[in-house]
Amino acid sequence: MNVSLTQLDACAPPSAPSHTQRRDVLIDAHGRTIEDLRLSITDRCNFRCIYCMEPDDRFLPKRSLLSLTEYLNIVDAAIDMGVRKIRITGGEPTLYPELDTLIRELGRRPLDDIAMTTNGWWLDATRLTCWKSDGLTRLTFSLDTLREERMAVMTRSKTSVQEVLSSIDKAAHAGFPQAKINVVALRGQNDDECADFADLARSHDLHIRFIEFMPLDSGRSWQPSHVFSEREMVEAISRRHPLQQQPTTNPHSTSLEYVFADGAPGKIGIIASVTRPFCGACNRLRITAEGAVRPCLFSNQEWDLRPVLRAGGGIAEIKKFLRDATWTKQAGHSIGQDDFRQPDRSMSAIGG
Ligand code: SAM
Ligand code: SF4
Repeated sequence: MNVSLTQLDACAPPSAPSHTQRRDVLIDAHGRTIEDLRLSITDRCNFRCIYCMEPDDRFLPKRSLLSLTEYLNIVDAAIDMGVRKIRITGGEPTLYPELDTLIRELGRRPLDDIAMTTNGWWLDATRLTCWKSDGLTRLTFSLDTLREERMAVMTRSKTSVQEVLSSIDKAAHAGFPQAKINVVALRGQNDDECADFADLARSHDLHIRFIEFMPLDSGRSWQPSHVFSEREMVEAISRRHPLQQQPTTNPHSTSLEYVFADGAPGKIGIIASVTRPFCGACNRLRITAEGAVRPCLFSNQEWDLRPVLRAGGGIAEIKKFLRDATWTKQAGHSIGQDDFRQPDRSMSAIGG
């Protein structure tokens, strides 16, 4: 069932079958259990990455965004139903005014992993140290080029490569484990830098995670021909540094992991959502900054939890809503098939 966003504005998901109501787990109709919640806390961003946003993209009015208490109520309901991993994302999460309090509050909850994805703009050493001691476990940075002239083109911002690298360095000094760096590889833009990123992984013991370009750009310019594929990335890196694929230990991992065949430090991961979908193993649920529950990144189906929150709904009602929404999670995406329609929202408006 594909329901349009306009239809969904006042919409709650249909009730999940009664046998699921008795169990405190988030399970979908295909037997997948949700353990990983992606929480988008803002749709605002100070970059306009060419594969994500357009220069004139508008943001949601502030009153549409959830309050800190509303985010935490959703988190508490999800924890009650087995969620153990939270990723804070956006938009750019570091622009969220109450981020420090959110991290502190999440750190008090029984979670195994609290991660955050950021573009690495202006991260302060003291703040990083506080986040670490308050319970943030991991940081993922996004950096798509190592060439300053390209940085301006790809992010449409004034931020430099050096600034992001310095944030990564500060995170290591604050005690965060080996940083992951997300690199979206775009044919004709930065596909010639895969081996340079591998050099960086080796010299600084970093985990570089290449991502295939997904049809989630707000400019809707995505074409299959723009996707620099996993196979092409591996070939490009291996010409300089032969890679060895690692056995998959985490059944829910979205990436294939590689190490360097010569034993050098650093790791390479590849998220190939387009050419190697991993939907069967997906254990994620997404909450947008204004409280829509999105069972799948690539679908237009989403359920508006905000009316429940704003009507004073308690944890029991939020849990029921999450349970029902999860049940509707589709089996997989249809990118590359004739019936695929690009989602109405961009990655920045969903939460990557
Ligand atoms: N602003 C933060 C950042 O850039 O790290 C967090 C939000 S961003 C939407 C999360 C991740 O989504 C980033 O690593 C970004 O590179 C990735 N992303 C955005 N649009 C994408 C697209 N069309 N295809 C693949 N990855 C995308
Ligand atoms: Fe902003 Fe992140 Fe999207 Fe770039 S990828 S425009 S930093 S939300």
